[in-house]
Amino acid sequence: VAVLRADALGKTYAEGRMRTPVFDGLDLAVMPGQTVAIVGASGAGKSTLLHLLGGLDTPTSGEVYVSGQRMSSLSDAARGRLRNQSLGFVYQFHHLLPEFTALENVMMPVMLGGADAQAASHKAKALLESVGLGHRLEHKPGELSGGERQRAAVARALVNKPACLLGDEPTGNLDEKTAAVVFDLMLELNRAQGTSLVLVTHDRRLAAKLDRTLELRSGRLYPLERAELAG
Ligand code: ADP
Ligand code: ADP
Repeated sequence: VAVLRADALGKTYAEGRMRTPVFDGLDLAVMPGQTVAIVGASGAGKSTLLHLLGGLDTPTSGEVYVSGQRMSSLSDAARGRLRNQSLGFVYQFHHLLPEFTALENVMMPVMLGGADAQAASHKAKALLESVGLGHRLEHKPGELSGGERQRAAVARALVNKPACLLGDEPTGNLDEKTAAVVFDLMLELNRAQGTSLVLVTHDRRLAAKLDRTLELRSGRLYPLERAELAG
């Protein structure tokens, strides 16, 4: 079963009399372990699509299924639980809580899932070590470099072993070299844990490292061939 499926998805923003149609009839299926890049011009609707796939916003029409469960059929609480268990999120800016250490930031989703502090600390430490931050456990986000902060954000997103990681320009704020390191880290975790990846990126060279690249254009997703990515 697909970890993530969009079925005839439509979204129109309405503010007063202003209507902004973003897409209508968009389909997508992401299989377990599959890695998908989403590219497209600014304003094409990439962030909107990720928000709908992640259950942060509701579609105007169509359905999103996470691990086979129809999002619109769930209560807010059940949708929250499914998101916390099945999905991880990484953004361009890390969204770590500034007053907490790297370790505490990564422990939080585990404790939200009901684990006690000791179990959460154990898991969080192991993952921070595997992303190369074993020596930064007690540092707060302000005391980490940009690349270290993004690695901590990736650790936080993956600590509950979600079926799928959703990333909105997860390396967009990093220099080229650090971006490649963080991108490769997500690919390593994909191989090690089988986590599917759906990553919005404007960097076609990074996109070419994933199984599929889809371009969002005029409200639809179009597959791009390797050759188009290289060119
Ligand atoms: P992208 O991520 O590809 O740059 P977005 O998903 O952010 O595109 O935006 C797609 C379109 O929807 C744009 O025209 C944008 O102005 C519009 N839009 C995004 N968010 C909102 C919102 N909250 N209210 C109204 N319009 C929005
Ligand atoms: P942007 O303006 O590019 O969307 P923001 O800094 O405003 O970036 O926030 C990033 C995204 O995080 C927002 O779009 C918001 O919808 C999302 N977000 C808000 N609350 C949560 C949450 N509890 N879990 C995951 N993502 C969230």
